[in-house]
Amino acid sequence: MKKAPNPSLQEMLATERRARLAAEQLLESKHAELTRANRRLGMHARQLTDEILQQRREVREVRSEAAALKGQASQAQKDLERAHRQATVAERRLWDALETIQDGFAVFNRRDQLLIANRAYLSLFDGLDGIRPGITYGELLQLLVDEGVVDIGAETPGSWLDMMLERWHGDRIEPMVLRLWNDTYVKLMDRRGQDGDLVSLVLDITDTIRYEREIEDARQRAEAAARAKAAFLANMSHEIRTPMNGVVGMSDLLIESDLDEEQRLYAETIKNSAEALLVIINDVLDYSKIEAEKLVLHPEPFDLERAIHEILVLLQSSAGEKGLDLLVDYDMFLPTRFVADPGRIRQILTNLIGNAVKFTVTGHVLVRVTGYHQEDGPFFNLHVTVEDTGIGIAADKLGLIFGEFSQVEDERNRKFEGTGLGLAITQQLVGMMGGEIWVDSVPGEGSCFGFQLTIPEVEPPVATDFSLPGGLHSAMVVDDLPINRMILEKQLTAMGLRVATYRSAMAALNDDPGRFDLVLFDNDMAEMDGLAFAARLRAKGGANPVILMTANPSHLDAHEADLQGIFAVVQKPMLRRDLHLRLHELADAISAAAARPAPAARPRMRLLAAEDNKTNQLVFSKMIKQLDLDVTFANDGIEAVELFRSVAPHLVFMDISMPQMDGKEATRRIREIEARDGLERTPICALTAHAMEGDDQGILEAGLDFYLTKPLRRQEILDRIRAHVPEGIEIDRPEEAPG
Ligand code: ADP
Repeated sequence: MKKAPNPSLQEMLATERRARLAAEQLLESKHAELTRANRRLGMHARQLTDEILQQRREVREVRSEAAALKGQASQAQKDLERAHRQATVAERRLWDALETIQDGFAVFNRRDQLLIANRAYLSLFDGLDGIRPGITYGELLQLLVDEGVVDIGAETPGSWLDMMLERWHGDRIEPMVLRLWNDTYVKLMDRRGQDGDLVSLVLDITDTIRYEREIEDARQRAEAAARAKAAFLANMSHEIRTPMNGVVGMSDLLIESDLDEEQRLYAETIKNSAEALLVIINDVLDYSKIEAEKLVLHPEPFDLERAIHEILVLLQSSAGEKGLDLLVDYDMFLPTRFVADPGRIRQILTNLIGNAVKFTVTGHVLVRVTGYHQEDGPFFNLHVTVEDTGIGIAADKLGLIFGEFSQVEDERNRKFEGTGLGLAITQQLVGMMGGEIWVDSVPGEGSCFGFQLTIPEVEPPVATDFSLPGGLHSAMVVDDLPINRMILEKQLTAMGLRVATYRSAMAALNDDPGRFDLVLFDNDMAEMDGLAFAARLRAKGGANPVILMTANPSHLDAHEADLQGIFAVVQKPMLRRDLHLRLHELADAISAAAARPAPAARPRMRLLAAEDNKTNQLVFSKMIKQLDLDVTFANDGIEAVELFRSVAPHLVFMDISMPQMDGKEATRRIREIEARDGLERTPICALTAHAMEGDDQGILEAGLDFYLTKPLRRQEILDRIRAHVPEGIEIDRPEEAPG
């Protein structure tokens, strides 16, 4: 072997240096490797830490959730237990309750098997052993029949069972009553539930049935007694009537005979008392006849409107004494002839209208008839009401007044006579005719009694034609009563007229009354009577016919009415037919007059007489009746001044003492008018009651020219008139003219 030369130190150093360098480089690279590894490790560790934290968090959450769930589970458990306890209590209570009630209670399932039944249910069947849960309804019924628990009446057991099962399986199970062997009564009430179960109730109604039977017995006994009593009363009243007729008839004859004052008074008292007694007896007789079911209706044709009218005419005098207006509003489109018992219809109407007049002190009584034709046949449904403005009836008494012997007890009322039977009879009669009666009332304002009836029209029906021939087109209605204006307007409009209504004579006079073809004037107004109205209408140049309506035609001076061109005086209330007849006559007269040339008008002397007293007006007009004059009355000084212009009188008679404005003042104003308008001085003659010394001077100073003292003497008046007849005018009537 070749021995290697010995290295020099330098070489050794270089080698060593190289080795060291290499070592250092290695170290460095290892170091870098380590650092990298370290960093990776760090990152990893951090990631690990994060994961651990995350997991811890999740574990915590899961734990708390688990804890919560555990809590909930135990709550649910507790709730369940409580619900269970409650259900048990409720069931026990329900069952206790079912056991406590005295009625039988049972439930059957959809296969008709008894599920449960309370003791009451079981005991109703006399404690039959077989009746226990599990038994079917059919078996239960069979047991009842076999053991004779139930009274099946005349039925055979088979048919009874069939009937009961059919009922049980029906859609709606009707209640039914069974009689049991021991004379108790039970009522079965069964109802099917939604799931097919059937609840069955069995009520013991023995007491109720017994009670009903007792009531029915008592009612029959009471009715029999009432009928017997009524029959007795009817016989008695009839027996009493015969001698009473003797008393009335004989006292009538007695009054006719020659009696002195005192004897006449006695006889009249006997007659009046007997008549009053007869009215009472008739009421009692009627009432007991109805009660005893002995009253028979006799339907026959009659005229309803006329019946009402006749009753009103009979009541007119007592209404007139109180100043009551009696009015009828009979539906224009309703027939008047019907079939019913006319006597009884009159009785009903007389009672209601009579009461209305009796219990009314001021105002009016209005009978209104309306109705409609039923679909088929001749039947009409009629409504008749009787309305008054009387004392009225308190609300708590309204229900009682149709009872027998009932009279409203209060001090306002007891001054009225009566039996208290009228309305009871009226109600019964309306009931017998198949109708109904009722009443409305406001104390202090009035009452309205009404009844409704369905009765046939007389066949063949009489056509109601209210049309008028030509010539009449318009009418003026003057009436202070709004209802009357309304009724007349309705009637006249239905007759084809144009109608204007006025509440007072003055309102009518101020509105050119001459332009109407006809004036209908209410003569019973306080303001001015029909004759005075007509006179003023004429003074204004109105030549139209006037029809006066009055409750008392006899109070009117026919001759005077004639003079003022009053076409007709009709009695209120008017039948529709009568009104139509009058207007028809008038229309005919107008047509006839139109066909003939008008006679030349004769000029007449115009007189104005101011006098506030109606009687004095009447006296005055009678005194001058024989002369052909155009007289206008003024009711006071103011009217006298007003009329002075329109009438332009040839002579004025002036009462001195008048309300509103006296005769002296009126004369002063007339003189002023004359002076202002440059008129000739009109002679004015004072009529005075003051025949006192020195009075004449005051009168003449006021501008009056003459004076006459009351009481007036005809000759003085006639002389005064004759002294002032204007030239060219004749005041003696043509037919009475001398020679
Ligand atoms: P009477 O014979 O007393 O009039 P009714 O039976 O006819 O008997 O009437 C009974 C009572 O009803 C009357 O006494 C009266 O108190 C009251 N009554 C009847 N109609 C009216 C009426 N139109 N206004 C006020 N009260 C009336």
